[in-house]
Amino acid sequence: SLAGRRAVVTGGASGIGAAIARAFAGAGATVTVADRDEAAARAVAEEVGGDVWAADLSDVAALEDLSLDTDILVNNAGIQRINPVEEFVPEDWRLIHRLMLEAPFLLTRAVLPGMYERGFGRIINLSSAHGLVASPFKSAYVAAKHGLQGLTKVTALEGGPHGVTANCINPGYVRTPLVDEQVADQAASRGISEEEVLDQVFLAHSAVKRLAEPEEVATLAVWLASDAAAVATGSSYSLDGGWAAT
Ligand code: NAD
Repeated sequence: SLAGRRAVVTGGASGIGAAIARAFAGAGATVTVADRDEAAARAVAEEVGGDVWAADLSDVAALEDLSLDTDILVNNAGIQRINPVEEFVPEDWRLIHRLMLEAPFLLTRAVLPGMYERGFGRIINLSSAHGLVASPFKSAYVAAKHGLQGLTKVTALEGGPHGVTANCINPGYVRTPLVDEQVADQAASRGISEEEVLDQVFLAHSAVKRLAEPEEVATLAVWLASDAAAVATGSSYSLDGGWAAT
C-alpha cells in the first residue's frame, strides 16, 4: 500500500505516466501530475483526485532552484526523435538530454533533502530497453537513457543510508501514443502494414510477441514505490518480453 505517500509523476498526463498516476492513487497515494500538456494533466489529476503541475520540464533553468516535497518521484516524461547520427539535429539532441537526463537530475536534486530528512524516498526512473541496448537512428534517446541508468545508480548509492531507493524500469515497447506514432511512421516509410511493423521491427527482439500495456509497467512501479521494495535499489527492472536477453 502507498497510503499516506505523496508522489510526483512527470509526463503523468499520458501513456505510462498516466497509468502510474492511476495505480499510485489506487494504492492510496496522493499524486501530482507534472506535464506540459495542462489540459490532459488536469483530466488525469481530476480522475485520481490529485494535483497538477503544469510545466515544460525541458526548461531546465526553471528547475535549478526548486525544492520539492514528495515521498515518491517518477521521472517519466519523454519524447523520441529518429535520425542517423550524421543528420541528427543538434537542438533535438539537446532537447532530449534536457528533458530526459538533466530534468531528472534536477528533480532528484530537488526532492532528496526532504526525503533524507524523513528517512524515506523512492525515485523511479523510466528508462527503456534502450537504457541497456541500442538501436540505430536513436542516438539521443539511447544516450540519454544510458545516462539515466548512471544517474540512478549514483542516486541509489548516496540515498541508501537515508532510506531512499532509486531504480530504473526498462520497458520494451508499450502501447502508448509515443509508440502508436512510431508504428504509423514506420509503416508509411517502409510501405508495409502496421502489423508487419510490429512483427518485423518493434517485436523482432521480443520473445513475447505483443506490446506491453501501460498498466503492466504501473504494477512494477507500485511495487518499487512500496515499503516492500526497501532493498531493491540501484537496479534496472526489465519489462521487455526478453529483448535485453538477446
Ligand atoms: P507518452 O508520449 O504517452 O507520454 C509522455 C508524456 O510526457 C506526455 O504526457 C507529454 O505531454 C509529456 N511530456 C513530453 N515532453 C514534456 C516536457 N517537455 N515537459 C513536460 N512533460 C512533457 O509517452 P510514454 O510512451 O508513456 O513514455 C513515457 C516514458 O516511458 C518515456 O520516458 C519513454 O522514453 C519511456 N518508455 C516508453 C516506451 C514505450 O514503448 N512507450 C518504452 C520504453 C520506455
